[in-house]
Amino acid sequence: MIPFLDLGAAYRELKPEIDAAVARVLESGWYILGPEVESFEGQWAQYCEAQHCVGLGNGLDALTLALRALDIGEGDEVIVPSNTYIATWLAVSNVGAVPVPVEPDPATHNIDPARIEAAITARTRAILPVHLYGQPADLDPILRLAEDRGLRVVEDAAQSHGARYKGKRIGAHGDVVCWSFYPGKNLGALGDGGAITTDDPAIADRIRVLRNYGSREKYVNEEKGTNSRLDPIQAAVLSVKLAHLDEWTQRRARIAALYRQELSQVSGIGLPFVPNWAEPAWHLFVVRAADREATQKRLTDAGVGTLIHYPLPPHRQQAYAEAGIGPGSQPLAETLAGEVLSLPIGPHLAMEDAQHVIEVLREIAQTS
Ligand SMILES: *Cc1c(COP(=O)(O)O)cnc(C)c1O
Repeated sequence: MIPFLDLGAAYRELKPEIDAAVARVLESGWYILGPEVESFEGQWAQYCEAQHCVGLGNGLDALTLALRALDIGEGDEVIVPSNTYIATWLAVSNVGAVPVPVEPDPATHNIDPARIEAAITARTRAILPVHLYGQPADLDPILRLAEDRGLRVVEDAAQSHGARYKGKRIGAHGDVVCWSFYPGKNLGALGDGGAITTDDPAIADRIRVLRNYGSREKYVNEEKGTNSRLDPIQAAVLSVKLAHLDEWTQRRARIAALYRQELSQVSGIGLPFVPNWAEPAWHLFVVRAADREATQKRLTDAGVGTLIHYPLPPHRQQAYAEAGIGPGSQPLAETLAGEVLSLPIGPHLAMEDAQHVIEVLREIAQTS
């Protein structure tokens, strides 16, 4: 059996260090914010080549608080990818604004910068690109357009820990960059976690206040904040894992290179396209399969775990039924949803197991 992702293996590789880090927090008696969170925030900002980091409860809160910190709310519109996980859209809805979808570039599956301008209205306040699957979105044309039209740029980096765009780490290209440390992400906690990074001290300060009941001084509340604080136990675990992130990303890249080389001649499989300016984090290895259902079934029968990211785009979910963005209105996102298939990739997938996945796919291609 080849699991889609083996989270237990990540813990086992670092067990002595992780156990010691957890014990250190338990012994310290400091269980909310404090030195472990501050230490991780400093390390994560530095890793992301950003000036500031604020640790939060999860990735959705990171996106939501980023929008709040930019005073985006009721009556505003935010441009989002039609091809993304629903959290990107929900953050916009959470602040009372309207998500306005823009279709992907069919080669990269990321938001197509050339289609954004047509979606801008007098109400548009921000563009929210997602670095989907760990592939950086094409940021330069987005930043240029935002500058020209007076818009903010909030990045959803929940899948792109360590990715680089034109040589610079994802972390501070836009106004705010939002991270998730959900266990299955490339840098994953042992529960929920999130953060923002930014070069703007005022934005970092506002989010630091918002995450803690709108308070910077105990029992003094300057605005209606929320409770979304990175847990110190998770911060301590993340600090341990961060020291291994680059090595783990390299292992992912080696598997991706093998898949790209060995699957290039396999009929019925479309491989990910990587622009020359992109250094992906390979959170997911997403192929397009001509006959996705049959391919997935045969992989399952051969003991290979796969997933679909994502089977239904946000505009087709019941949650957005009222939004008036009907079926067929985002045809590229809908086509991708019918064809994408995520192959196993992760720092603990053995190269022999990746080779086995390749052999199964070759066999499927020869016998269908
Ligand atoms: C995981 C994810 C999120 C949400 O992160 P949580 O920590 O689960 O709230 C947001 N956007 C994308 C693209 C994600 O993959």
